[in-house]
Amino acid sequence: MFVADCLQVNREGHLCVEQQDTLELAKKYGTPLFVMSETQIRKNCRLYQDSLQRFYGGNGLVLYASKAFCCKEICRIAAEEGMGLDVVSGGELYTAISAGFPADRIYFHGNNKTQTELIAALEHGVGTIVVDNLEELELLDRLAEAKGVCQQIMFRVKPGVDAHTHQFIRTGQIDSKFGFALETGEALAAVQRAAGLSHLNLSGLHCHIGSQIFDTEPFLLAVRVMIGFLAQIRQETGQVLHQLNLGGGFGIRYTPENDPPAYETYMEQVSAAVHETCALLDFPTPYILMEPGRSIVGPAGITLYTVGSVKEIPGVRTYVSVDGGMTDNPRYALYQAEYQIMNAGLAAGEKTMRVTLAGHCCESGDLIGENLPVQDLQKGDVVAVLSTGAYNYSMASHYNRVPNPPVVMVKGGTDRVIVKRETWEDLTRMDV
Ligand SMILES: *Cc1c(COP(=O)(O)O)cnc(C)c1O
Repeated sequence: MFVADCLQVNREGHLCVEQQDTLELAKKYGTPLFVMSETQIRKNCRLYQDSLQRFYGGNGLVLYASKAFCCKEICRIAAEEGMGLDVVSGGELYTAISAGFPADRIYFHGNNKTQTELIAALEHGVGTIVVDNLEELELLDRLAEAKGVCQQIMFRVKPGVDAHTHQFIRTGQIDSKFGFALETGEALAAVQRAAGLSHLNLSGLHCHIGSQIFDTEPFLLAVRVMIGFLAQIRQETGQVLHQLNLGGGFGIRYTPENDPPAYETYMEQVSAAVHETCALLDFPTPYILMEPGRSIVGPAGITLYTVGSVKEIPGVRTYVSVDGGMTDNPRYALYQAEYQIMNAGLAAGEKTMRVTLAGHCCESGDLIGENLPVQDLQKGDVVAVLSTGAYNYSMASHYNRVPNPPVVMVKGGTDRVIVKRETWEDLTRMDV
């Protein structure tokens, strides 16, 4: 019935996160409210790390892609778990550094990093900068020279792999704003150029083929293409690059119909493909990096809302409006993302209604979902949207001057605020 193992139903029939009653949490902290399970987050980190150990002898590092949900406490947890960290902006970098995340385990991505962001990365001693284009390569070399350092870099490469996911979250194909193309020779030219730059040290290649991918085949294809390219680089330039970053994008279960492979399946199959391809090309097995974001935090979070108006339009649909919406979860408005919802007080009950869950913004497209099965829902009920730990808070906006909800972390019978609720006053803080 449930999409994540941190969720249960108690004797009263209430939805629980790590055995904590969500109705109690809603009463204590108010709604809308994000609730996350720390145990689940840590468990997800370990599933990837254990599989890297088991199937690949630990020759690599698992990075948490912080854009899925970035705040100081998550960075602290990732650091404690021995993870590396992906950041894609100066703001994410600042958050990680403020949380004390070890800079040498940070990988800085982005297709248009500004000079200010690159300088910040050099100042903080970011371990690896994943360079996206030639302009950035030249600029970074000059900045590193001015600072008197040699910066480790990787190149983001488009391997030309189609990942069978929504076009907005697909990134590996040639028509993408991210990275150097393989087919056109652009990536090889960049590797050759980097060899002539004395303040940059190219450690390897990176690719990221998309997000919410259920199939392992595109990842295996990417492995073959990327190792093939590493071998080509060796042949044409004599350079042997030792690191291969295969990105993130592992799918999670939003609805019971979603059937993603187990977390360890990915590393098991990738590891076999890496060994096989390396043996075939007589290439040394690389240090592997992988970058799960969604699959670390997504299943660990839920959102609680309070139902306001219920409008049944006979023969059309029933609108159930809640006290949040596209400002805390824009994913349905963006790409019709699917979610499972439930009446948090009747969590074990049969789903007898089909509703359109609407937000409170002045926008008809402000919906969390349509035609969603749910138990009876009435004004004042608490409704839970499941698997909202990733790309919800991190994509939140202030449209209609709606304050962002707080995030509460539960762990083994305790609960604490890790991001505070914004106030109306906070919203005017930058106004002059
Ligand atoms: C978004 C992103 C990830 C994480 O993707 P998920 O689908 O959240 O696992 C990893 N690496 C890069 C470069 C990304 O852009």
